[in-house]
Amino acid sequence: MQRPAAPIQTSPWSKSPGSNGGGAFRHQGPFTRQHPGNTFGPYSSQVSNAPFTGTSARTAARQQSHAGAVIAIILVMVLVLASGMAVQNVQTGMANYHMQFTGLQQSASPSESRSASTSSWNLSAEQTCANLSSAIASLEGWADSDGTTAPAELTTLNNDQSACAGDLSHLSSTDLDAISNHTIDALLAWNDDMVEFYRYRSASITYRIDGKWPGDPKELEALLDASGWFDNPTYAAQQAAKLKSGTDAVLAKIADVVADLHNREAKIAGIQADDRASEQEIWAAIDTITNEMGVTYSFEPLSVCGGGGGGGGGNNPSTVAFFCQDGTLDYRNKIMFNTGYVLWDLGARGDPWMLDAAKHELAHRSISIACGTARPKIAGARYEAVTNAYAYQFMGVNRQRNEHHQSGLEEYAAGDTEMAIAQQIHDGTCS
Ligand SMILES: [Zn+2]
Repeated sequence: MQRPAAPIQTSPWSKSPGSNGGGAFRHQGPFTRQHPGNTFGPYSSQVSNAPFTGTSARTAARQQSHAGAVIAIILVMVLVLASGMAVQNVQTGMANYHMQFTGLQQSASPSESRSASTSSWNLSAEQTCANLSSAIASLEGWADSDGTTAPAELTTLNNDQSACAGDLSHLSSTDLDAISNHTIDALLAWNDDMVEFYRYRSASITYRIDGKWPGDPKELEALLDASGWFDNPTYAAQQAAKLKSGTDAVLAKIADVVADLHNREAKIAGIQADDRASEQEIWAAIDTITNEMGVTYSFEPLSVCGGGGGGGGGNNPSTVAFFCQDGTLDYRNKIMFNTGYVLWDLGARGDPWMLDAAKHELAHRSISIACGTARPKIAGARYEAVTNAYAYQFMGVNRQRNEHHQSGLEEYAAGDTEMAIAQQIHDGTCS
């Protein structure tokens, strides 16, 4: 009945998956093939066969390894798409660089330890120190897996900064070489993390920003290639600055998208249908809220999300409405009402609870955009109840009416815990 979230798998750096809707069903976790039928969060009624009344009714080697890592990203994403699997990672924050990297490093495999650079450079003190300053600026916010501690390479750069603070004439060539080597080492280590960041996040970022990357995603991809960085500290510092700038733009874009989402939610929260509303008024209200959210709705069988393959999806007659992620952007801005809902012709069309059902599905979508998954870690198994809680607090769902219609459906029942989690998601915490 309830379908767990399907991971999002669209990448800006991959071939289009071509057909969609035929994707494999994915329950949870990366690289797990599941059965078809990846509908998400059907809005179920309490009793499927009851009448619609009462309480019943719803890196030399290093360089190559860097170049290889970038190519690996592309290959991984292409393979992921080709095989119908997906990379999924829980997004930990909106525009919070620390949080973004904290979540990343906890999930990424530890990078191989590097031997420290020992090259000699014939750079002036001014150039050496300018590279250092640039590198420190680019690495702002870079943190270890605890989210607060600076990586050792960055700490070394910060210590070097004092040497560049005063009169530079006392810096020996040995001092300058050491600073340049530290700069390279830090930038390469940071680049590793950036590669991992995009490797795990590019698909969900694409989804969250509706495919509208700031700038050219191919340029961003090219900046991840650190193959020339080892040979030239000045070049490394310049490229790192561009990569940082491109990444900041991405994070800002995500923040904009979420802020816009919240504005729209606040508007639809005011669109209501009381118990005396006519069928026409109810569906006019649904038109209004979907329009306001930039979403379309349609009547579809539950199997539409899972596409071909049969099994799994089924067609639960108690499911009123649903939201699906087929791994592409195709269903990001759509919600569906289930054509198989048994009560349509028994009065459901004229029940103002349909507006609540639509808002519930929109809440699934909002959480997907906020977190990169409709089933964020913070919600755990309570994701349906958290979705209701989100809809109560931010979309004006009539809680009393909804609880009446979903009486007995424990997984949809929102208590104080779920209300608090929904608030946290709205505030940008997803794990
Ligand atoms: Zn749901």
